[in-house]
Amino acid sequence: MNPILPENNPSLHSFIEVAADSHFPIQNLPFGVFKPKTGGAPHVSTAIGDYVVDLAVLEAKGLFDGTLLKGKKVFNQPDLNAFMALGRLAWREARATLSQLLRHDVATLRDDIECRQRAFFARKDVEMLLPITVGGYTDFYSSKEHAMNMGMMFRGKESPLLPNWLHIPVGYDGRASSIVVSGSPFHRPLGQIKPADSESPIFAESQQVDVEVEVAFVVGSANKLGEPIPIDKAVDHVFGVTLLADWSARDIQKWEYVPLGPFLSKNFCTSISPWIITLDALEPFRTSSPEQAPKPLPYLRSTRNWAYDINLELSLQTEKMSSSYRVALTNYRGIYWDFCQQLAHHTINGCKMNIGDIFASGTISGPTPDTFGSLVEITWAGTKPIKLPNGEERKFLQDGDQVIIDGWCQNTNYRIGFGELSGKVLPSLKSEFLL
Ligand code: CA
Repeated sequence: MNPILPENNPSLHSFIEVAADSHFPIQNLPFGVFKPKTGGAPHVSTAIGDYVVDLAVLEAKGLFDGTLLKGKKVFNQPDLNAFMALGRLAWREARATLSQLLRHDVATLRDDIECRQRAFFARKDVEMLLPITVGGYTDFYSSKEHAMNMGMMFRGKESPLLPNWLHIPVGYDGRASSIVVSGSPFHRPLGQIKPADSESPIFAESQQVDVEVEVAFVVGSANKLGEPIPIDKAVDHVFGVTLLADWSARDIQKWEYVPLGPFLSKNFCTSISPWIITLDALEPFRTSSPEQAPKPLPYLRSTRNWAYDINLELSLQTEKMSSSYRVALTNYRGIYWDFCQQLAHHTINGCKMNIGDIFASGTISGPTPDTFGSLVEITWAGTKPIKLPNGEERKFLQDGDQVIIDGWCQNTNYRIGFGELSGKVLPSLKSEFLL
């Protein structure tokens, strides 16, 4: 059993007012990177209530005075990588220091008006930036319900799972260079598509732009090339968790994916939420994963439960709608292959993981259509369009459509969340190749 961290005590509260449904009570204290809309350098920050707190200001003032962070300069930075390089105990110390500084009954920051004026920003006054410099990005395929749905749609109902799926956390290497922060729009991709009634492929705009609801794990501690990360050490290498939107062009994917997996159908854009929640903050929401049968090989056997009870909501808003509409509500706790199994598998051949690498869960789907984590599943390959409240219908995303993914954990005492992850589809760029 993990000792209960004092920072997770449900009775803690801050001198900053936090609404009951806020994603950012004192028990969360996620990490991100921001800059003021009025200008200024990007700095590492945390969130409390409706405020973003500039950790570079607190660091310069000497308020991070624990044994691992004292004298360090890791928050006056444009990304979290230098902070992550200090290791898991330093991440815990930073959160513990912030928890102490933000308590209602601790005067240090509460009564230092001058410092608070420099360090606290209303959320509306800041721009959140990509919080990490991402070196590598791997996407897994670890929801059994999702893999079954895709198998049924594209290969038939007889054997929806390929023979390896129950033995291997299947994944592929994505493009880190195309990862953007929430709020960044992207252009509808162009590519090779093979129409069903044609012998040959055409070059065209994708007509099947989709989104996959995922959570992603941020590597905060590297391994050496050639040295696998044992499954029971995997947790020490993970800094935290963020939401991930895996934008997917299904028509391009269908033509290109055999035999090496997705390529251009996925690597035009991938979005993550601006806040990374530490595993320490998620600890009260850790829960058991589904039973695994057949039993995995020994290097994939976790001795603990590593699923989390994270609600994940997928909403759409077209240009004609005045507010967003929920099309699915799913939960990460149903994931078949957990993140420790994914990391152990990823490195079992000696593959090196770097600080700032991310690996994603794969689309998270539950058992019923209102819990499916992608449009291709919800609409069953476009055969059952989504009816929106204003009368519009959607099979896939149209130009101008916005997708919002919301993620949060809730217990009887408080809610912690990631903030919102959104992305908008812009018209495709004109191409001289589009004839
Ligand atoms: Ca995916």
